[in-house]
Amino acid sequence: MGMLTPDDMERIAALCRKYDIPAAKVTGAQRLAFLGLPPERLAELKEELRIPDSLPHTRNRVHYVQACPGSTWCKYGTGNSLDLATRIEKIELNGPLPYKVKVGISGCRMCCCESWIRDVGLISQKNGWKMIFGGNGAGRPRIGDAVAEDLNDREAVALVEKCLNFYIENARYKTRSARFMERFGIEALKKGLFG
Ligand code: SF4
Repeated sequence: MGMLTPDDMERIAALCRKYDIPAAKVTGAQRLAFLGLPPERLAELKEELRIPDSLPHTRNRVHYVQACPGSTWCKYGTGNSLDLATRIEKIELNGPLPYKVKVGISGCRMCCCESWIRDVGLISQKNGWKMIFGGNGAGRPRIGDAVAEDLNDREAVALVEKCLNFYIENARYKTRSARFMERFGIEALKKGLFG
């Protein structure tokens, strides 16, 4: 979620100095990029950070969860985006996802985390969370479909889990949620989820 404590920042600064890294950046995918790292020092840095040689993109969890500061830190926030994001990050699905899944959680209707163009979007509204599925902001952008609204935190996490398991069961391998929804349609999805 791009959250950094003062201790994290001190450690990052120390690593940058040690490895001659001119700048670091929290990326849109919520990773930390060490920009300008001398290539010959990559292996050493990975060893220090205990990063394995390769990390699978497709696994039984979502690819990344992006969340705005929400009601904890933002005066406009009505929903606790950071807490919801933490719970969604921990969801263990029934199998590997067909393709990467990005989640964007916005603590109010200003939608700073671009929830309409994420595979899974959540937006806090007056009566609870609205959940969106099938958005994409890449080369073939798509506005996602609204699946449900007025969800409390527990209901939102449960629906995200159910929806992603449905996607696992019904989408072909390497089909992003946006393409899946173009073919499948929101009514069929709702029927599958709610009967
Ligand atoms: S979406 Fe709303 S709560 Fe979140 S950062 Fe933007 S204005 Fe604040």
